[in-house]
Amino acid sequence: MEQYTIGVDVGGTKTAYGVLDGGKNIVARLSHPSDASCPPGAFFDRIAANIRDLMDANRIQKENLRGVGVGVPSFVLFEEGRILKTSNLTNLRDFPARAYLEEKLGGVRVILDNDAHAAAIAEHRLGAGRGFDNLLYCPVSTGVSSAIIIGNRIFRGSYGWSGESGHMIMTPDDGVECGCGNRGCVMSWCSGSMIAKHVKNWIDAGEKSCIPEFAGGGEINCLHIEQAYNAGDVLARRAVAQMIKYLGVWTYNLYVTFNINCFIFGGGLLKMWRNLEDNGKGGNLLESMKEVFDRHNKNSMPVYFKEAELGDDFGVIGAAELL
Ligand SMILES: [Zn+2]
Repeated sequence: MEQYTIGVDVGGTKTAYGVLDGGKNIVARLSHPSDASCPPGAFFDRIAANIRDLMDANRIQKENLRGVGVGVPSFVLFEEGRILKTSNLTNLRDFPARAYLEEKLGGVRVILDNDAHAAAIAEHRLGAGRGFDNLLYCPVSTGVSSAIIIGNRIFRGSYGWSGESGHMIMTPDDGVECGCGNRGCVMSWCSGSMIAKHVKNWIDAGEKSCIPEFAGGGEINCLHIEQAYNAGDVLARRAVAQMIKYLGVWTYNLYVTFNINCFIFGGGLLKMWRNLEDNGKGGNLLESMKEVFDRHNKNSMPVYFKEAELGDDFGVIGAAELL
């Protein structure tokens, strides 16, 4: 009997599902926007319902489902399968997500982990990290995070949420407040969702920009910043420069902490960067970050900045790899 695995990648903006066959090929997919206003029970009820639908549609019985892997952008107590808190989906907090899903799915095996951990395992086994004993996987997207592979194993830390370096504080008590509860963490300066807040604050303070026009008077997001950047908008350029600066310093801080020389980047911001029109500061996020990194790095040993290879499926494959 063919054995299947289901991977669920809960992101700050969307939740994606993949059904993987025994050869790790994705044979069915599903995705929907993540509803940030949802309480945790309802949020996971929807996930359970979608998993059941995927099982029905692909004629998968409980007996030929190895299990469900779920990656969440959260602080996770791994052993217990409990979500402590989630910066981008603040309602997902203090919730026993694994036990809840297992019950809703009638005893199907569920493994829940931080999404960056899941993706790091996938990139290490199947993607850009093949052959590296130690690596840092760094998603830069709505949020900013990292996951640490040491000696070919994921390092989870004492409580399970190692690698939450997006909340490493750069400027104590200074800056926009992050979902982590602090001001001035890395994420508060340069994540996709936070940079839009900076731009909004600058505009509210009276600075001129065409970003609101691209947003059509609605909520500003990264796409509008990208469009304004390509139109030569000064605030959009400042926003991009700010992101590069803090992302570059963040990677340098990680390097001096771990002395791990392989960084693998994934996430939506890389895609946005590719659409920025001029080179030097736009075009290639990795190069731009590496310039800042190199400016601070006083050692000559090689350090590799690589792009994740598993594409948009890294989260789903990673979640499935947890099993
Ligand atoms: Zn934070």
